Formats: sequence, C-alpha cells, structure tokens
Amino acid sequence: MPVGHITNRQFRRYMDSRQIGRDQAGDAAVDRSFDHANAGGVMAPVHPGVLGQDDQNVGIVGEEGPTQLLGWRRNGDAEHARILVGIFANIILRFIIHDIYVAYIPGRLMNTTTNAIHSTSGSAAAASPSRIPITIAVGDGIGPEIAAATRLVLAAAAAPLEFHEVTVGERAYLGGVSSGIPDDAWQAIRTTGVLLKGPITTPQGGGYKSVNVTLRKVLGLFANVRPCASHACVPRSRPGIDLVVVRENEEDLYAGIEHRQTPETYQCLKLVTRSGCERIVRYAFAYALANGRRRVTCMTKDNIMKLTDGLFHRVFDQVAAEHPGIVADHQIIDIGAARVATRPEHYDVIVTMNLYGDILSDIAAEVAGSVGMGGSANIGARAAMFEAVHGSAPDLAGKGVANPSGMLQSAVQMLVHLGLPHPAECIHNAWLRTLEDGVLTADLTSSGAVSTSAFAEAVAARLGQLPQTRAPVAYGASLRIALPDIPPLPAEVREQVGIDIFLHHVGQPHDLATSLLGVVGAGFDMTMITNRGVKVWPDGHPETICTDHWRCRFMSTGMVAVPFAQLLALIGRLDAAGFDVIKTEGLFYFAGKPGYSAGQGA
Ligand code: NAD
Repeated sequence: MPVGHITNRQFRRYMDSRQIGRDQAGDAAVDRSFDHANAGGVMAPVHPGVLGQDDQNVGIVGEEGPTQLLGWRRNGDAEHARILVGIFANIILRFIIHDIYVAYIPGRLMNTTTNAIHSTSGSAAAASPSRIPITIAVGDGIGPEIAAATRLVLAAAAAPLEFHEVTVGERAYLGGVSSGIPDDAWQAIRTTGVLLKGPITTPQGGGYKSVNVTLRKVLGLFANVRPCASHACVPRSRPGIDLVVVRENEEDLYAGIEHRQTPETYQCLKLVTRSGCERIVRYAFAYALANGRRRVTCMTKDNIMKLTDGLFHRVFDQVAAEHPGIVADHQIIDIGAARVATRPEHYDVIVTMNLYGDILSDIAAEVAGSVGMGGSANIGARAAMFEAVHGSAPDLAGKGVANPSGMLQSAVQMLVHLGLPHPAECIHNAWLRTLEDGVLTADLTSSGAVSTSAFAEAVAARLGQLPQTRAPVAYGASLRIALPDIPPLPAEVREQVGIDIFLHHVGQPHDLATSLLGVVGAGFDMTMITNRGVKVWPDGHPETICTDHWRCRFMSTGMVAVPFAQLLALIGRLDAAGFDVIKTEGLFYFAGKPGYSAGQGA
C-alpha cells in the first residue's frame, strides 16, 4: 500500500482489510491519541515496512539503534545500567537526527495561519538559531515531577526547543501575585505563543480564580482538544476507544460570574454566545475532516436550557448541514456521558460545551485506563497551551509516583503544533512501546509499578523503537486546521417589552402578588411570579418550596416597546413601596421573537 498522504481512517480501513495492526482485544489499529492537538496536524499512520520512504508522512521511526536491543525488567541494577547506556546511545543518535529535524523546520519563526509563534525579537524569549522558543510552567502538586519527566524525554529526543520557564499558579499567588500569573509569565507566553503547562492547584470554594481558566480565556484559546484512546497493555483500559472531545473553552459557567443575591440564594451566570458556539462547532468539523474522522456528536442539555444550550445545538445543526460527508448527531449530555462511560467505542469526535466537556474528558480518560494518561491542547488564533487533562493531584505530590503520560502526550501535541512531527512521533512510539513492555506507573497497575522518573527513563530508552502490537504512529507535515472565520450577525431589531425584577422577600406568593399589584401602575401588567424558576403565581401549587428569591415579570401593556425611563419608574415605585429589589433582567424581542424563557409550570 502506498503510504503517501493517507488519512488515519483510510489507513485503518486498509489495516482492517488486512487484519493486521489490531491487538488481541480488538483495539483500533491506529492510536490517534495525538492526532488532534496540532490544530490540524494530520497523523498519517505508517506501515513498518515502508518506514522512512516518505518525507511528509514517515518520520524517524523504525531505526534499529542500540536502544532496540534494550529489554525492560522492573528491578535489577544490570537492567538499570543497560537502560542508562541505552539513553546515552540514544542521545548521541538524537544529536545526529536533530540535524535532520532542523532541516525540516521552515525557519525559526513560523508565521502560519494560527500564528502559533509570533516574534522572538528583543524579548526574554530570544532563541538560539535552531531552536524554537516555548514557555514552560511546571505548575503545582505533581507538576514539577511530571514536567521534569517530560523534559527528560524531550531532551533525549533532541527536540529543538528553547525553554523559558515561568512560575504561575499557587507559588506565584503565595509570592504575592493575586492573579497567580506574574507579568513576566504573560510576556513570555505572548512572545513565544506556546505554553507547556503543568497542572495548577485552584483553591476550592474560595481563594484566587483558576489560573487555567484565566489563561485559556485571556489568550483566546477557544478549543480544548482532548483525545482518548485504548491501550490494550493497560489493565483497566476498555478496548476500542478512539475518541476526541472538542470542548468549548471560553464560555458557559466558566465565565465565573457569581453573586450572592439574598441570604439564601447564590447565582452563577451561564454565558453562551452565538459566535463562540459557531467557532467551536466549525473547529470540530474542520478537525474531523482533517483527521479522517466520520462522525461528530454534539452534547448539550437543551431540553432544560433551551436558550443557551439550545443555541449550541442549533448552531451545530446548521454547521452539520454544511458537512454532508460527516455523520452528525446530538445527545442530551446525561445519557451521552453515561454512554461514554459504558460504550466509549461508539464515539468519534464529541463537541460540547465547556463544563460538559471537562467532565466528559475525565470520564473518557478514566475509562481508557487513567486520567493520568490524557493530554490536551488549548488552541487559539494567537497562542496555544498544552497541558495534561488531570489536575495537580496533591495526594501524590512529592512521592515520585505520578504518571507523566498526560504531560508527555501534551508535549507531543505541542511538537506537532510547532511543525516538528518527527520528534513527536518518535516520542509517541517510544511511549507506546514502553506501555507495551509493561512499564506502568501506579495508577495503571497494582503490582510492580515504576516511579515517575523511571517511566520517563524507560520512554527515553526506547526512542527509536516502535510498538509491536499495534501500528506505529506517524504525524504528517504540520498541516494546521484553518481557524474558523465567524461572520458577524446581520443587524436585528431589538425591542424591550418588559422586565423581570428580582426581589429579596420572605413570605407567601399570594401575599407578595397582592402587594405588588397595588404598585405596578399603568402601562405594565404583572404576568408571573416564580421562585427558583417555578411559577408560584398565578395558579401556583401549595407543595412548591419557596425561598427568599423571587422573580416578578412585568410586561408592557399590549406588549409594545417600552422606553427605559418607564422601566426605571417602575423599579422606583417598587423601591419606594419597600420592596427589596436585588436585580433586573430586560425582556427583549429580537426580530419579533422573544429572547427569554418561560417560567417552569407557566
Ligand atoms: P486531579 O486530577 O488532580 O486528581 C484526581 C485523582 O486522579 C487523584 O486521585 C489523583 O491522585 C489522580 N491523578 C491525577 N493525575 C494523576 C497522574 N498524573 N498520575 C496518577 N494519578 C493521577 O483532580 P482533583 O484532585 O480534583 O484536583 C486537584 C487540584 O488540581 C485542584 O486544585 C484542581 O483545581 C486542580 N486541577 C487543575 C487542572 C489543570 O491544571 N488543568 C485540571 C483539573 C484540576
């Protein structure tokens, strides 16, 4: 079979037809757990028999160097010595190979459509001629350990990178930076355009805001791409998984806009924009096309959140109609998440909203073996950030037992993103081989587990080796997904026809309604009172439990557009009558359609 520019799907069909490249459990022939993060890097699978014959798709794999002779036993000094010799030999080999890598890099500054790297001139991140500058933040908890392991492998593979280390997260916060991100970190990230980041501890229920979320949103990293694949050699890994979660990364409840409104009631705003939905959905389809995937599944909860999640679903349907070659379907998130847990092999690309995607990708990673295995890419138009799916695992910090695979996989994704497919596939194949050889960290096995550093050394020792029970991985030349261009919305007529006034009040619905009706005045009709979203007037139900937080809906009489001054006068009347107004929401018509939800039970 000619290798050339084939897609993973094409290759898999070929492998299927040959009945080769599948492990005993029937896993997918091709592990594409990294084929996403490049923002378009198309991973072209390689048949071992044709290794090295195609510059575009075939990397530096299949070398039968000294490390190929190394076996792995978990204990024994002799074995350890052999591994160290292997690493040493490999490093020398990598220095030779490094020159070849450099020849493939189209200049130090890659001014591509994604502008992954901008300028290095006159900055703290000025690079040596042949190395690409990146920013690295090791993070908190297990971060320093898994970052050291990752750097060990990157160095052994002679990846031509120049690291600019910055401190973000807990240590920065404790050092007096209230945001957790010091100025020098922002500057380095902006200058290099690429951040390899360890996990960051975020205080729960208080303290500083999430540094992760801040970085994603400030830098416009709208797409969080989280692949997940089975590993037959990992005991708890369910077979057949080969899915990618494309998670919207900037909106939803992660806006982090929260208020305490009454003694009883707290609120978190869920913000969803049409352009945000369109950007991520278009990215998901473009990603599917670029990576030979056939199905995109959208997951929302639009049976309940009809406006916000409904928008995401509606945009998905519109974009899907433009891609007749890709199967598109929608699942409500609760059954979708359950099915990802029980039938993950049925999924291909999943595109979903921020919170759902965060939860789903942890479920998928665990079902595939361990949350410690998952890497992710955060892609934006002007920067990209690469990080493990998991958190800082404070329970493991300092013990040297964490699995560095998630961060290592993120680093591989970063290499592809940077246009360095050869070291990327070299590391990826060595990692697959390491797992195949039974070198597992404690999250993957209950006996004979190796330490974080021993795992990294084992991967480094296998650089140049290929997996034996599945097809090796190869990444194509750095083909990037063109970032979606979102046209502005056509102008729409917007008219305010009413107002929801929220009150702090302790009492019964009927009494509240009677008091309010006495002060509404001309020009408005009070149409509804809800408590926690449930209609309690008119025609409420006696069983409904009410709190101290009430929404009172006032529509203009005749549903005509109402001047803002009249709305202010209404609020003023309520205030003067002693009502405790805590917030208002405008009720608008957009091009003749209501832009607000009905009350539950209304
Ligand atoms: P976590 O992912 O840190 O840990 C969950 C469980 O998975 C723990 O039992 C942990 O030991 C295990 N685990 C995680 N990574 C592992 C690895 N590499 N190897 C082996 N086992 C691993 O989630 P958590 O405990 O809910 O959160 C801890 C902290 O991490 C919190 O402060 C949270 O805010 C933060 N967090 C950060 C990120 C990020 O930086 N992107 C993501 C999620 C959570």
